[in-house]
Amino acid sequence: MNKIIAFLIVLSLSLTYRLSSQTIYSNNNVEVTNLTDKTYLLRETIYFTANIVALTGPDGILLLDTGFKHASADLVDAVKYLKSGKVKFIINSHPHGDHIGANSSFGKDVRIIGHKDCEDSFSGDGLKAITFKKEHSFTFNNEEINCIALPGGHSPCDIIIHLPTSKIAYLGDMYLSESFPLIAIGSGARAQTLFKNLKHTLSVLPEDTRLISGHGKVTTMEDLKNYIEMVETTIGIVRKEMTAGKSLEEIQKADVLKNWSEWGKFFEFITKDSWIEDIFLSYTEN
Ligand SMILES: [Zn+2]
Repeated sequence: MNKIIAFLIVLSLSLTYRLSSQTIYSNNNVEVTNLTDKTYLLRETIYFTANIVALTGPDGILLLDTGFKHASADLVDAVKYLKSGKVKFIINSHPHGDHIGANSSFGKDVRIIGHKDCEDSFSGDGLKAITFKKEHSFTFNNEEINCIALPGGHSPCDIIIHLPTSKIAYLGDMYLSESFPLIAIGSGARAQTLFKNLKHTLSVLPEDTRLISGHGKVTTMEDLKNYIEMVETTIGIVRKEMTAGKSLEEIQKADVLKNWSEWGKFFEFITKDSWIEDIFLSYTEN
């Protein structure tokens, strides 16, 4: 009898999950699913997948990132489908083109929120930006919105956005849930900073938070824990080779990350070798 009850509970949980992750709208480049009753995941599928989050309610719409410029028209249509009025705020996790592409597609009254050090990127096209250095919190649609700056891991202006009531957090590209990290070395980002920032994220978010990465599937805090372990272990392996005096080419040729190959398949341009290079340069570039 207990087994039957357990089976029914599992069945109903999996049905609930499937219902909540069902596509409710799609067009050429955007697919919309529910995260909660008032938050949505808008997944763009142009070039490669990119995640955008919308929070809806009586105050209008808040977007977390805006994806690719070339998918702007489709994003605008998907946002209209949510029937929640105008987009009032856009929070940019960082200023890369696949995250700010449609910022200017929602009128001039929209306010862009982002890290102070990248203000110019957020206030382009005559848009008004609200920037901050450490933390920025406000209430929108009766929901507390907490932005926390954690720069220097993926880009110089990484921030994470936590919606405690909805129990979701948007981590941008600091966390690529299905891939090795990507470090903008030329802009001063470093693998060791990414590791530190991921650990900080794990320590400040509640255990039951659902995580939305800039690209890739929605995950749990447990997945983040495993991801951090992968990052720590792979950095350790490459560092060991470096300490032994090996060159970047020698480390890549020795295929030292072969046991982690799966993490190098999600993007064409993030591979075992690119991650080895990012780690190597993180410790050798000034
Ligand atoms: Zn990205």
